[in-house]
Amino acid sequence: KSGFVAIVGRPNVGKSTLLNRIVGQKIAIMSDKAQTTRNKIQGVYTTKDMQMIFIDTPGIHKPKHRLGDYMVNEAYGALQEVEAVLFMISADEKRGKGDNLIIERLQKLSVPVFLVINKIDKIHPDNLLAVIEDYSKQMTFAEVVPVSATQGNNFETLMQLLEDQM
Ligand code: GDP
Ligand code: MG
Repeated sequence: KSGFVAIVGRPNVGKSTLLNRIVGQKIAIMSDKAQTTRNKIQGVYTTKDMQMIFIDTPGIHKPKHRLGDYMVNEAYGALQEVEAVLFMISADEKRGKGDNLIIERLQKLSVPVFLVINKIDKIHPDNLLAVIEDYSKQMTFAEVVPVSATQGNNFETLMQLLEDQM
């Protein structure tokens, strides 16, 4: 059994850092799903019951005029085919244009979207609630998971929540 997870987020929020924690395992089961060819597989996480295949959806945060309709549709189409989407943000940065553009696109999905608040090691715990509230006003998330990709906080929790979603 296998499932797909897409990671989206503007540059520098920590997507690669999180993926580095996930990578290192071979893909034992090759899916025939379309996104395996359309998207770059960035990492595989294997549990005793299944594997989760993490993909990158390049360009989802880019404005339409820069990327072109075709590319945006490709990226968006890929998001509709996964089991879950991780929308990663940085806890120590304000919601910006890039984030809003992603939210606009994610709102149209029927796939569960997790808000992954990264870099919690950089903020005071008291400030986390304001971040959660701000983003939760924009759209409804299946889960909200504060993490630190560098330190590993809540990594296991995130993986378990994803597995439950498969
Ligand atoms: P990407 O552009 O979204 O792939 O972001 P990267 O994974 O390249 O991370 C951008 C920068 O943020 C790097 O310098 C990382 O070391 C740093 N970073 C990533 N995650 C964390 C975190 O949880 N805490 C802190 N303090 N820094 C982080
Ligand atoms: Mg990266």
